[in-house]
Amino acid sequence: MTIADLRPTDEARELRARYRAFMEEHVYPNEAVLGREDEESDAAIARLRALAKEEGLWAPHLPPEAGGSSGSFLVYAHLNEEIGRSVWAQLVFGCQAPDAGNGEILWHFGTDEQKERWLAPLVAGEVRSFFSMTEPEVPGSDPTTLRTRAVRDGDEWVIDGHKWFSSGAEGAAFGIVMAVTDPDADPHRRATQIVVPADTPGVEIVRAVPTLGHRGRGWTTHCEVCYTGVRVPVENTLGEVGDGFRIAQKRLGPGRIHHVMRWLGQMQRAFELMCRYALEREAFGSPLADKQTVQNWIADSAAEIQACRLMTLDAAHKIDQGDEARVEVSLIKFFAAGVLNDVIDRAVQVHGARGLTDETPLGAMYAMARGARIYDGPDEVHRMVVARRILKSFAAGEPWRFE
Ligand SMILES: Cc1cc2nc3c(=O)[nH]c(=O)nc-3n(C[C@H](O)[C@H](O)[C@H](O)COP(=O)(O)OP(=O)(O)OC[C@H]3O[C@@H](n4cnc5c(N)ncnc54)[C@H](O)[C@@H]3O)c2cc1C
Repeated sequence: MTIADLRPTDEARELRARYRAFMEEHVYPNEAVLGREDEESDAAIARLRALAKEEGLWAPHLPPEAGGSSGSFLVYAHLNEEIGRSVWAQLVFGCQAPDAGNGEILWHFGTDEQKERWLAPLVAGEVRSFFSMTEPEVPGSDPTTLRTRAVRDGDEWVIDGHKWFSSGAEGAAFGIVMAVTDPDADPHRRATQIVVPADTPGVEIVRAVPTLGHRGRGWTTHCEVCYTGVRVPVENTLGEVGDGFRIAQKRLGPGRIHHVMRWLGQMQRAFELMCRYALEREAFGSPLADKQTVQNWIADSAAEIQACRLMTLDAAHKIDQGDEARVEVSLIKFFAAGVLNDVIDRAVQVHGARGLTDETPLGAMYAMARGARIYDGPDEVHRMVVARRILKSFAAGEPWRFE
């Protein structure tokens, strides 16, 4: 691999320019409305989604055979440097979490019937979905401890359990639920993923759990969900019984890098706001840009953002080559989550009190960024994964090679 392999092709560059133009014309000017989380914002999102479809910019995470418009992971990384700049843009372009990850696993592991029933309306943007794995009573970092059970009764699964942080469950049409189907199996063969329509009797969305003072609405909620005697046909099993962890790994691997790609957009936007304001605002007789502390923040941010970009593009390129890139994905997940928080924090600091207001997007970006160090695996777990892999290599007499 050379750096040249990571650069966008002319075609990808042209596509990226179209996303940028759409963002400038339709998303940034409407951000205040989009973020209001009321009926007016629902209508604005619906209007922009229709426009994105018309312009062929819809669902860039999935291939055309699955109803999307994607080229490769690498191209998607470049596009996300635009899409990620606004929190709302993923919804506008139909590639929002968790639907994007759910769409991918339905595409890779779903039967033809499941694809027709669940994937087609999901990719078309007619319905939303949720992914229900984390439970309040056990550590989400170690999903071998999950307690939600699915017990076979004839041609049905009967599901009982208690989940939370099922993002977007409010108003979703279905969820993909991770449940223990064989408690005596090897820990990584105990669980199975099962598609559960949200209106099945026994599915109760108990509440949208407020985070950092924000309850959310619909897509932006993180819900507590109870499953009590929930019966679904065994045809709703995703993949084979016991495949839950294998599929979760497939889902979370690309899902994690999707997040990181969007963070690249967030970091760059915060960086630009910081630089512009540093030039504009004066204190103690000179622009903030003249103060060495601010210059250090700008220089450190530039170095760290570029490191994140190259690491993300490298991981995306490896995934395109058929490599699972487990180490690369874990490396970039914790490293970029830290850089995201640091760059936004510096940008807020340069703006002083204004950085906390809604006069810039920084306040909202700051609140959203904190979760990045926790969801899809906390930093510490990704560090553990990376260190274990590297040490395993050394223990086997092989040094770790940076390729
Ligand atoms: C914004 C947001 C959205 C989310 N969306 C979803 C969703 O849609 N569906 C879903 O199922 N889940 C979702 N989650 C849940 C998320 O996946 C879990 O929070 C995550 O896996 C961590 O699990 P936990 O919260 O139970 O923390 P725990 O596992 O209890 O861990 C607590 C802390 O312990 C520390 N820790 C854990 N293991 C180690 C270790 N080996 N070494 C050192 N320290 C360690 C870490 O600091 C960690 O933060 C979401 C979370 C957030 C914040």
